[in-house]
Amino acid sequence: MISKTITLRIDPANPDSESVAQAGRLLREGGTVAFPTETVYGLGANACDHAAVQRIFEAKGRPTDNPLIVHIADRAQLDPLVLPYSGIARRLMDRFWPGPLTLVLPVRPGVVSPHVTAGLDTVAVRLPAHPVALAVIAAAGCPVAAPSANSSGRPSPTEVSHVLDDLDGRIDAVIDGGAAGVGLESTVVEIIDGGSALRILRPGGVTAEDLREVVPRIEYDEVAAPGQSASTAREAAPAAAAAPDAGRIADIGPAILLPGGRLAHSAPRSPGMKYAHYAPRGIMELVQGEPAAASAYIQGEVRTARARGERTGVLVFTEHAHLYDADHIAVVGSLAHLETAAQGLYAALRSFDDNGVQRIWAESCPEQGIGHAFMNRVAKAAAHLIVRV
Ligand code: AMP
Ligand code: MG
Repeated sequence: MISKTITLRIDPANPDSESVAQAGRLLREGGTVAFPTETVYGLGANACDHAAVQRIFEAKGRPTDNPLIVHIADRAQLDPLVLPYSGIARRLMDRFWPGPLTLVLPVRPGVVSPHVTAGLDTVAVRLPAHPVALAVIAAAGCPVAAPSANSSGRPSPTEVSHVLDDLDGRIDAVIDGGAAGVGLESTVVEIIDGGSALRILRPGGVTAEDLREVVPRIEYDEVAAPGQSASTAREAAPAAAAAPDAGRIADIGPAILLPGGRLAHSAPRSPGMKYAHYAPRGIMELVQGEPAAASAYIQGEVRTARARGERTGVLVFTEHAHLYDADHIAVVGSLAHLETAAQGLYAALRSFDDNGVQRIWAESCPEQGIGHAFMNRVAKAAAHLIVRV
């Protein structure tokens, strides 16, 4: 069991250093190293070393039915991992790598740890666009499996302090390379129908609009579709609801809040929905509707919760911050600059925990561009507890 996590400082503007060599050595020898990428901080291990990959799952408390993304520093590292792939895959790599696009490709049997693929006949691969990530993977000389460097279920880390909050003492090293870029995880796609279409399995930094430049026909996995949160929303009850069932909403799948405050859960529709992801510790509800109606509903709920003695929080956009009064107001950024709001989302979600908030309400934004990935993460953080006002 690891007890001491070392911090290595690497300057993204000038990554070549003894620290890069040390991080590479640790990875090659079976250690776990967290490093910045242009999406979020990742927790890496040698993808071909089964014991090393197991350490990722142990450190995060991650369920083993959730596969990992393999990170490479160079296209030459790809061919040993996968079976021959389509021309479409190559065109996507040409257009979006290095960058926040993960491709699900046919795996070459027996090369990566079976935990990396979760027993599937595919492997998810990406080539990140971050100088520190690229330098460390190149120094390791092996493909690096890396999920986000957070405890399973918690918001992903976008700063080194988030990594240490969750994993200090549980991993060998963390690289301090400044703030991550996009702030949301990569877009995950698979190529379908013989290369004539793409299916988005997880929305992220590369948007559907971007992908359409290469492949005009885009489909969505059920859990990744825009408006998917709308389809699970319930109408607001006329009177403010009482507290939902006690305890944190975790690992229980999509939920709806029934009148009277009881939670109902439907069976998970896919492994990705079985777990509350990206979630603060408090119970969070996503509110859809016009800003005035949303704030009126939320302020009513805040008053009721405060009367019960609960600490309240709201996740709101700059334009509407003045409409709110709660114990903790997390202003995530402007609706006019959703890219910037995305960079701050996970830090905002973590700020509720830092302030001991027990009940949280979040505003919605349009699901265009990065807004799609943004709403996908907020809906998951709310364990699909969604209300339409
Ligand atoms: P994380 O490691 O937390 O960034 O999440 C990795 C994401 O990639 C999850 O949504 C996985 O379900 C998805 N993923 C990884 N490998 C595969 C694969 N072979 N097929 C489908 N989805 C995958
Ligand atoms: Mg993750």
